[in-house]
Amino acid sequence: MQDDDRDSAGAGLHGVDRLWMPQGWQQRSGQGRWMLPGVPNLHSHAFQRAMAGLAERQTDPADSFWTWRETMYRMAARFDPESLHAVAAQLYVEMLEAGYTTVCEFHYLHHAPDGKPYADPGAMSQALIAAARDTGIRMTLLPVLYMTGGFDGRPLTERQQRFGHDVDAYLRLSEHLRSQESEILRVGCALHSLRAVPADAIAQIVAALPPETRMHIHIAEQIGEVQDCIAIRGARPVEWLLGNVAVDSRWTLVHATHLTPEETQGIARSGATVALCPTTEANLGDGLFPLRDYLDAGGAWGVGSDSQISVSPVEELRWLEYGQRLATRHRNIAVRAQSRSVGETLLHDAVACGAQATGFAPNDDRIVLDDAAPQFAGMREHDAVDRWIFSGNRNLVRDVVVAGRRVVADGRHVERDAIAERYRSAMRALLSD
Ligand SMILES: [Zn+2]
Repeated sequence: MQDDDRDSAGAGLHGVDRLWMPQGWQQRSGQGRWMLPGVPNLHSHAFQRAMAGLAERQTDPADSFWTWRETMYRMAARFDPESLHAVAAQLYVEMLEAGYTTVCEFHYLHHAPDGKPYADPGAMSQALIAAARDTGIRMTLLPVLYMTGGFDGRPLTERQQRFGHDVDAYLRLSEHLRSQESEILRVGCALHSLRAVPADAIAQIVAALPPETRMHIHIAEQIGEVQDCIAIRGARPVEWLLGNVAVDSRWTLVHATHLTPEETQGIARSGATVALCPTTEANLGDGLFPLRDYLDAGGAWGVGSDSQISVSPVEELRWLEYGQRLATRHRNIAVRAQSRSVGETLLHDAVACGAQATGFAPNDDRIVLDDAAPQFAGMREHDAVDRWIFSGNRNLVRDVVVAGRRVVADGRHVERDAIAERYRSAMRALLSD
């Protein structure tokens, strides 16, 4: 697979170059089928699975992320632990069937709709943990700290109340959840965004959590957020974060869409991972990440399904590349010194950077592709990944094994029907008026 000698000058030994996997990361299984490492999903809000397709009517010619957020808040207000469990389980079945084997769940729906904590303050987190356990997906649970409604420190609005914690309550929740860590559960920390967490709270949280804790944050997704950050903190969001917090390979920056060249270089140098969510970023009209510059800088990145308008690593990777082609009017953008295959480069990076973003040690989770599919007819070995990613929408994942357990067999999750039935009844209740 390392069939050329393209010069990688400028890409230092940080970021993804440090993580390049040994040859043989794509292999044949005992039956001669193509076996690939499972793909980590670096960014998910499970409840949003219930609103996929429900925000696609124009309410105003200026519809944007901010009008989408209104729909999202209305849907968020309807959830309780039981419905979250049912929706998340359906989502995780879909993820596993598509080839995601780990999910980083960026979870901010903490309290009852009126903003009061449940009798068990971790009830909503427990619902997500139960959904992961039901389906066998590996989970990095990222309870979100959400404190303010804007960079100016304004209080949360009524609809944001159920997201909120102060630092002490957050640390209690985190400690309680960490006591449940297992072979397939890790607990990290998510800061919702710079607009939702004051600077002194970030410092307190970083100091209080165990040093190996994975830190995730939404950043620079919207131009409006960049402008507010400049106006109030005197710097762009990524510039501020890199200048004020010790960002390193334990950090994952979600979106990081709007960057200056210096910020692009700075993230790559820090060793942090960027979680790109191309289908959601397209759906929300966010903008386009400077992928080529970031690859040239040796930056680490992975993908996430975020708002769940698509649950497919194939579609995320394909659209990551297609966005760049549309913007530059060139083809075959995402390649590195190690491979000229776009599919192989994309899949490699999404997998190799995943382990550091999830906090799990490298594992043997794997997906087996359906070699009997017409898309693979007559295939040469070095085309396997490109065929998988760039040959249409038929799901070519046949089997999935997580932590030694086969959870998808012959293209179907082993609990698909029972989980879909619970999901249908939860959806009928959620959408009942
Ligand atoms: Zn998000």
